[in-house]
Amino acid sequence: MTDWHVHTTNCDGKSRAEETVLAAIERGVKILGFSGHGYTAHDGSYCMSLESTEKYVAEIRELREKYKDKIEIRLGVEQDFFGEAMPWAEYRIGSVHYMNFKGEYVDVDGGNDQLLNAANKYFGGDMMSVCEAYFEIVGNVYEKTHCNIIGHFDLITKYNERERIIDTENPRYIAAWQAAADKLIPAGVPFEINLGAIFRGMRTTPYPSAEQIKYISSHGGKFILTSDSHSADTVARDFQKWEEWAKSLGAEILKKI
Ligand SMILES: [Zn+2]
Ligand SMILES: [Zn+2]
Repeated sequence: MTDWHVHTTNCDGKSRAEETVLAAIERGVKILGFSGHGYTAHDGSYCMSLESTEKYVAEIRELREKYKDKIEIRLGVEQDFFGEAMPWAEYRIGSVHYMNFKGEYVDVDGGNDQLLNAANKYFGGDMMSVCEAYFEIVGNVYEKTHCNIIGHFDLITKYNERERIIDTENPRYIAAWQAAADKLIPAGVPFEINLGAIFRGMRTTPYPSAEQIKYISSHGGKFILTSDSHSADTVARDFQKWEEWAKSLGAEILKKI
């Protein structure tokens, strides 16, 4: 088992890196990739500061040495589309957490109110325009970050199960995500099947949606299973169950990047 998307107290996670390593060893994880939120200048609330980045890098390297006989540890970063490149990162998850309209950042991960406000403020209430803008950025995430993994492809639907504000059957919505997928698949890097929103009680299925997994698979895209863990107890949790689910949709699941 491998898990490449894990956060710690160095950014917005609840568990220290070492607790996470111990939990991963107990769960039988062979490769554990730490992916601290890389520094983004416009929003310091969730990511590592430039100072804590240094601490993170040193800590993960130290843990790698300490536990090298038990687990393989990788030092990665979850790099936001608008974030800064981190040259020390051994791998990058490319994620879109924001949209930018006329210089103003809108937090995709910040709840439906943010999306509704953006629709009203910039598009006369048209949520489909917000989704089109989101997936246009997502479609460029590889070009911008040269990521090794494409992060939570349809993050914009994070809160949609609880309060439906996006009609995911709308042809405009489908065309928007298909265009992004078509642009990303040729890059040849896996899309993650991200369980983070399930563990946080926001969704009952992973990102991307089943329809998206089917489409991406049938167009040659591959996947990697990740926990997007923010606490040690969710590292690589339920991976077997979700791997079977994804395979039933036609997904090819990679173990390494
Ligand atoms: Zn993320
Ligand atoms: Zn994450």
